[in-house]
Amino acid sequence: MKIVVCVKFVPDIQADRRLGQDGRVVRDGGDGTLNELDENAVEAALALAEAAGDSEVVALTVGPAGAEDAVRRALQMGADRGVQVLDDALAGSDVFGTVTALAAAVRRIAADGPVDLVLTGMAALDGLTSLLPAALAAELDLPQLTLAAEVAVEDGAVRIRRELDGASETLAAPLPALVSVTDQANAPRYPNFKGIMAARKKPIQVLALADVGVDPAAVGAAGARTRIVGSSPRPPREDRVLITDDGTAGTRLAQYLAERKLV
Ligand SMILES: Cc1cc2nc3c(=O)[nH]c(=O)nc-3n(C[C@H](O)[C@H](O)[C@H](O)COP(=O)(O)OP(=O)(O)OC[C@H]3O[C@@H](n4cnc5c(N)ncnc54)[C@H](O)[C@@H]3O)c2cc1C
Repeated sequence: MKIVVCVKFVPDIQADRRLGQDGRVVRDGGDGTLNELDENAVEAALALAEAAGDSEVVALTVGPAGAEDAVRRALQMGADRGVQVLDDALAGSDVFGTVTALAAAVRRIAADGPVDLVLTGMAALDGLTSLLPAALAAELDLPQLTLAAEVAVEDGAVRIRRELDGASETLAAPLPALVSVTDQANAPRYPNFKGIMAARKKPIQVLALADVGVDPAAVGAAGARTRIVGSSPRPPREDRVLITDDGTAGTRLAQYLAERKLV
């Protein structure tokens, strides 16, 4: 079985995040990392590959130069190889541009053997739209099973469990298919020393748009179908009250809550 797992390089959520003049996240200069929610997708891919045997897991990203780190992390966890689509023309890509590049890369990966399953995380912690999985499934003309809390492959089909409010659904689709995985699906493995050393030797193929047959005008700011019309940083909270404990903090906290009818 060949599994492509989409991983995104995102600014570290612990670090300060800034918006540029264009309203987009400033992505250079800060530390980046593998989107934490994509670790669940990588873990699911590895578990499915181990269960099926004779499988390959390819970690795929579309992103700037540092995005290789996200792929490397997936390789440390156990993915077999990585692919990064890297091209200056991608700057300013909205979800359509990102999907165009990812879909073209999936087709390229399928050129040397069909891709059975495309896995994604449930959301990227910077954009947080959860748009990409459905858009990528549409672009690749694959059935999509989103927000899987459990995923299994059997007899040429993928089956997922999805948790709803007060109910749980089981859905199935024939392979090839696309599945997005939630953080309830598993506990991602932590790369061990052996995995970290092995990842150094695993290949990451860097592809430009021309290598995957994408017209630069279809992606980036040029091809974006959405436009950021305005953005502003959230104003600091003015109603913040800091209570320093001098032995009466508990009483003052209770008083504060009671005055506002919060208790
Ligand atoms: C006008 C506009 C301009 C933008 N300009 C830029 C820009 O210059 N640079 C930039 O980085 N972003 C830019 N973005 C944001 C970018 O379009 C989104 O990050 C992208 O569409 C994915 O959406 P999301 O982050 O909400 O991911 P979600 O839909 O929340 O992600 C779900 C899952 O999809 C997968 N995924 C998401 N993105 C990627 C990726 N790039 N590679 C591999 N897998 C992925 C992951 O598995 C993730 O868990 C721009 C957006 C807009 C609207």
